Amino acid sequence: MSSRRNFLQTLGTAALTLPSIPTAFAAAVNSEPYQGPVLRVALMGLGGYAGLVARGLESCQRAKLVGLISGTPSKIKSWSQKYNIPEKNCYNYENFDAIKDNKDIDVVYVITPNALHHGQVIRVAKAGKHVICEKPMALNAREGQEMVEACRNAKVKLLVGYRMHFEANTLEIVRMRQAGELGQIRFFQGLSGFRIGDPGQWRLTKNLAGGGALMDIGVYAINGSRYMVGEEPVWVTAQETKTDPQKFKPGVDETIQFQLGFPGGAVASCLSTYSMNNLDRFFLNGDKGFAELQPATGYGPIRGRTNKGELALPHVVHQTKQMEEMAAIILDNKKPVIPVDGEEGLKDLKIIDAIYQAVKSGKKLSLNL
Ligand code: NAD
Repeated sequence: MSSRRNFLQTLGTAALTLPSIPTAFAAAVNSEPYQGPVLRVALMGLGGYAGLVARGLESCQRAKLVGLISGTPSKIKSWSQKYNIPEKNCYNYENFDAIKDNKDIDVVYVITPNALHHGQVIRVAKAGKHVICEKPMALNAREGQEMVEACRNAKVKLLVGYRMHFEANTLEIVRMRQAGELGQIRFFQGLSGFRIGDPGQWRLTKNLAGGGALMDIGVYAINGSRYMVGEEPVWVTAQETKTDPQKFKPGVDETIQFQLGFPGGAVASCLSTYSMNNLDRFFLNGDKGFAELQPATGYGPIRGRTNKGELALPHVVHQTKQMEEMAAIILDNKKPVIPVDGEEGLKDLKIIDAIYQAVKSGKKLSLNL
């Protein structure tokens, strides 16, 4: 492990101009087989994103897919064959509380539609297992608070699937900012969007999604503004526009612009939308210099530049990197550079609540995170 890490670190610092390296190549460099503890993961919700996580887990050393939770028996059958999962580690949404008696599962990764996260995370916590929950952690801050408390009471860890918190180019900008290389931060721009297709999908159904683009993709700009500026915002304003009220029903936002103010004087100007493709850009400016990422939050490779030059640290599959790091957080109590715990998810939910409130009232609202 350490030889692989050293190799990646050495390569990382030297490779500002190198193309991305495949994970398999990076893994192949490790000559000694890893013998230490492994985080044993069960996935809940076997949809599109769970597929990426399952594939990412295949290249992990310290995390392994060992269990499945799904309401669709045919998916359990095909996934358990593909990933070699024993029947005793497969559950459905009715019986998964029994996971508490399963000694072979450490953590459940909840990857279901947003509205289900709250109840499912609390059930997993009550079963005594650690939980990783996809973003957005819940529909609102009240739900998020209840999830944080349930996990605290059950003495299990709650992590949010913020994969960008482990991405090398993102972390390099955070390092530059912390080292003062950008000077006093004055401005952040976060643009997050894509054109959504099928109007019948859960992402466009208020009851399952909890909203629209803001819940799904705008959360990247919200979360990004916090880790790029490096402070918690103290006020918010927001404006909504809708070009297609047929597709985007009441309560499902198509486009929201929002602005955040930070205690150090920085402002963030952000856009969240379901009606523009290839909108994925972060731009940070301090009084000494700038750093930008474009694409900033896609599945990679992430690319960027600063006033000092190009940023192109090697691409590692985000889900592999995230799960390796989350294994270290859960197994070794490692502290990540940018937090990924339930409190972090809760802060984003408080901002989401305030953005929706600001859209309705047209007012500038104070935030107390
Ligand atoms: P998806 O529609 O592809 O999969 C959702 C899964 O949940 C399906 O397997 C579906 O069968 C299951 N499900 C269980 N109960 C359901 C119900 N009542 N209604 C509908 N589906 C139900 O969605 P996805 O893209 O995998 O998104 C799942 C979660 O992952 C969302 O919270 C989303 O925001 C998040 N996500 C995160 C990332 C990331 O990069 N971190 C990327 C995509 C999605």
